[in-house]
Amino acid sequence: MIKSKQIQTLKQVLVVDDQEINRDILGVILEDTYDVDYACDGVEAMQKIEANPSLSLVMLDLFMPNMDGFEVLRRMKADDVYKEIPVIVLTSEKSAELKALQMGASDFITKPFDVHEVVLTRAARIMELCEGRKLISSAEYDHLTNLYSRNFFYEYAARLFAGEADKKRDAAVVSIDQFSSISALQGRDYTDSILRIIGREILSFLPGKDGLAGRIDEDRFAIYCAQQDDYTPLYESLEQTLSSYFPGFNVRLRIGVKPWGSDNDITSMFDHAKAASDMASGGSGSHVVVYDDEIAKKEMLNHRLLSEQKKALEERQFEIFYQPKYNVQCDPPMLVSAEALVRWRHPELGMISPGIFIPLFEEKGRIQIIDHFAWSEAAEHIAQWKKKYGMTVPVSVNVSRMDIFESGLTERLSGLVNDNGLDYKDLKLEITESAYTENAVSLIEIVSGLRKLGFQIEMDDFGSGYSSLNMISAMPIDVIKMDMKFVRNIEKSETDRKLVKLILDIAKVLSFPVVAEGVETEGQLAFLREAGCDIVQGYYFSKPLPAHEFEALIEKEKSIKR
Ligand code: C2E
Ligand code: CA
Ligand code: CA
Repeated sequence: MIKSKQIQTLKQVLVVDDQEINRDILGVILEDTYDVDYACDGVEAMQKIEANPSLSLVMLDLFMPNMDGFEVLRRMKADDVYKEIPVIVLTSEKSAELKALQMGASDFITKPFDVHEVVLTRAARIMELCEGRKLISSAEYDHLTNLYSRNFFYEYAARLFAGEADKKRDAAVVSIDQFSSISALQGRDYTDSILRIIGREILSFLPGKDGLAGRIDEDRFAIYCAQQDDYTPLYESLEQTLSSYFPGFNVRLRIGVKPWGSDNDITSMFDHAKAASDMASGGSGSHVVVYDDEIAKKEMLNHRLLSEQKKALEERQFEIFYQPKYNVQCDPPMLVSAEALVRWRHPELGMISPGIFIPLFEEKGRIQIIDHFAWSEAAEHIAQWKKKYGMTVPVSVNVSRMDIFESGLTERLSGLVNDNGLDYKDLKLEITESAYTENAVSLIEIVSGLRKLGFQIEMDDFGSGYSSLNMISAMPIDVIKMDMKFVRNIEKSETDRKLVKLILDIAKVLSFPVVAEGVETEGQLAFLREAGCDIVQGYYFSKPLPAHEFEALIEKEKSIKR
């Protein structure tokens, strides 16, 4: 007994090839390490496998007389015992390789054989992997959705991409809008079930489409499948199913598609599909976007802007503009503060809107350096105006959500206040509503600390995300900035008028002043003033202005006798 166990410690490998020379070469490579047996066609191979089901590995030629390798594979995979034996296919043809992989082969080795070490390493790796089969399957699959995990999906898709150049496939990416906000508000179980349902729908979309799907990010899915005319039916079936499970809660999806074309590799295909999905609007616009020249141009522009950011800062191409905020409960309205808004004066591209570069920098984690610049410019200007006009015009600066979690934030901001001889209340901080819902606990702690120092916090874009009025009382804020979309429709929509009134009433109960932004017309202003809104910002009073032009507004304010 003990003796036979000892003999069996060498792993057993069966080499199947009709060419003697190939069997010999593999024998030379493998015999030092393994107990090697040989078969010269499929029939003999099956006999040997049946006689010894505890084989550790079969190395299988595909094209052989009597019974070919495909048939051996098929028979092995159809059997409950033999299917567990890993098979490495020996081949010189790409297309055969792929077919074998699809039939369940674990790996392939190309003929003529690679250097010995490569063959040995691959054999060893496959055996190791198969021994830890449970481990592999957990790495292969995303346990929540039963789709492939990110790495496995890309690996598999890359093989299809390289191996079947004649088959045109699409790369499609399905993204969930504002996933982290939903997760923060509704909890993990809730988002898990959303993910499961999307996974299930995607799986049921696949049959007959010669493709595969994976979960490639927390909130993104990827599909690589035969070309489709339109992905709107997929979008619609996803939306319908989601809304039947979560009635009343609008989970918004975006699909981006990169059709087969000029890409050199699978990664670039999916990068493009992702870019297209980012262009799709989760709101009312188009939900399915196909990558085209326009998106390619935007991608190129984004690339350029990212690569030029540092130089632009050094060359002072960024400039801070100021947009006034007026207290409209006074007559005439009184200049009470301003918002600092960054502009990029590009030497070749002209003035670039922050709507283009800010979201880009945020997404790529490159926003801090811009914000630091904006904050310090604003602090210096407040100090200059104080000196020049003998009055303080407080300025609000935008604080991105990444800024909040950066170490040294509090020191940086209080440094600016102290170095410029300001009061904390002179430099106000605008933090967008969506930041509050994403990292609620730690964000609240940090922002509360800033407030305790004396900074005033304005919740920006209130009403644009998922937070609700009843959450507001628990949040560390001093002022609410109502999202522009409410103001835009005041004159047309009765519902928006009611919403604005509701926000203003509740803010009054909670004693929060409200800033309305985006006010462009006399009518909007009249409604807001009547409804009790305190502060108004918008083109009606002024567009954002360069500092020296903004000074004219300070002078005008000084000349008014109150
Ligand atoms: P935001 O903070 O909501 O800023 C208000 C935006 O509305 C500004 O756009 C402003 O120019 C625009 N606006 C003001 N009044 C009106 C109006 O009456 N009608 C219309 N249609 N628009 C009006 P801007 O300057 O293009 O900035 C866009 C966004 O970029 C800002 O939205 C803010 O989120 C971000 N941003 C701007 N500067 C900075 C910055 O220095 N740091 C960070 N992190 N974000 C910034
Ligand atoms: Ca703002
Ligand atoms: Ca805003």
